[in-house]
Amino acid sequence: MPWINKEMCTGCGVCLDECPVDAITMDEDTAIINNEECIRCGICHDICPLDAVRHDGEKVPEEIEANLTWAKGLLEHYSTTEEKEELIERLKRFFEKERKVAEKTIEKLDSLKD
Ligand code: SF4
Ligand code: SF4
Repeated sequence: MPWINKEMCTGCGVCLDECPVDAITMDEDTAIINNEECIRCGICHDICPLDAVRHDGEKVPEEIEANLTWAKGLLEHYSTTEEKEELIERLKRFFEKERKVAEKTIEKLDSLKD
């Protein structure tokens, strides 16, 4: 999923003109990708003259931090060490499930080529 680095985007509009599904809009001087509309063609990434359209992988650390912030927020609802440990185990099972879904999806994606 491409995303636009606000610090790097100058709002030149090149990507808006080239997106085949009009998934990019302008908010003041920054382009924004509508995730629901984007078909992951990668054109915006290839044509941005400033490399402001970035790859998914760069967001991994940020997404991990977001998960940990979410987990910390949930932990605030529990007072005892035992309750907190139980919650952490539940969260681990949740992310294990997410991992399995991702791994199985990756395995099966090639079958869609036919
Ligand atoms: S082409 Fe790049 S710099 Fe221009 S609006 Fe799009 S993301 Fe921003
Ligand atoms: S990846 Fe393709 S569809 Fe998605 S915003 Fe960029 S140009 Fe548009």
